Amino acid sequence: AAKAAGKDRAVVYEAALRETRLRRLAIVERLRTALLTDEITVHYQPIVTLRTGRVDAVEALVRWQALPPDAFIPAAEDSGLIVPLGEQVLRAACRAAAPWHARHGTSVTVNVSPRQLREPDFAVTVRRALLDSGLPATALILEITEGVLVGSALTTAHLNELRQDGVRVAVDDFGTGYSSLAYLRDLPIDILKIDRSFLRPGPASEPMIRAVVDLAHSLGLVTVTEGVETAEQAAVLVALGCDRGQGWHFGRPSPAEQVTALLETGTGARLIDREAP
Ligand code: C2E
Ligand code: MG
Ligand code: MG
Ligand code: MG
Repeated sequence: AAKAAGKDRAVVYEAALRETRLRRLAIVERLRTALLTDEITVHYQPIVTLRTGRVDAVEALVRWQALPPDAFIPAAEDSGLIVPLGEQVLRAACRAAAPWHARHGTSVTVNVSPRQLREPDFAVTVRRALLDSGLPATALILEITEGVLVGSALTTAHLNELRQDGVRVAVDDFGTGYSSLAYLRDLPIDILKIDRSFLRPGPASEPMIRAVVDLAHSLGLVTVTEGVETAEQAAVLVALGCDRGQGWHFGRPSPAEQVTALLETGTGARLIDREAP
């Protein structure tokens, strides 16, 4: 009976796998079409200096009315569509940020998938986006996830090359992946983004953030905490010495026109017309 149940489970499991695969294929097909139209847009979320409320940078976050990023980025990565999609986002972000940088000194951060970093011409693509937009390299930050950095010579070479131009590199979602602390010392990075799970209430929350912030600072890295939703959290982060914050408390991801307005109104302002929660 146990054996039969095990077999049933295997059958159910295979069916589920097949369905996941089919669903992904369907997403990829829709995404392929979407890339040729104007269905793909980019929203921008402020990243502020915690002590002053000044908007230092905005993070570019892809938007597709069909699905949230977490539901289609994995399919885009599997299929390779992340390469043209990522380039589209990068070019849009550089174009949008050029006037923001010229007027307010704002930087823009763009998420980059491992798959993009393995493209032989990745650095060329980034340089072309910068040249075409007029955004200086020093105003661009590339966000990569921890896993990317482990063991790829090509990826490291791309990042080193771009950093020589002045592009900065941030490690995104720090503390959620396979964290080897050694790579923080050895790899070409400038900024550490502490994952929002660290803000989850609990006795370990503050000591852990403090430890990560101190470690990052001792390595010369700037720290950003993600997912700051309340004034209380922002105050705690200031007390812990974290440099910057990002989250609904400071502003939701918003279309470019609203970011232009936000930057005009000056420091610490909240976005008026926010993305629905
Ligand atoms: P991420 O890079 O860690 O981006 C931050 C995510 O947290 C965004 O989700 C943002 O909307 C959300 N967020 C911001 N503030 C708060 C807050 O206070 N509370 C909560 N609960 N969430 C907050 P989003 O836009 O759904 O994107 C999800 C992920 O999809 C991103 O996580 C990133 O890994 C990926 N992604 C988004 N755009 C791109 C892109 O253009 N290229 C690539 N490769 N990945 C992207
Ligand atoms: Mg990010
Ligand atoms: Mg993140
Ligand atoms: Mg993420």
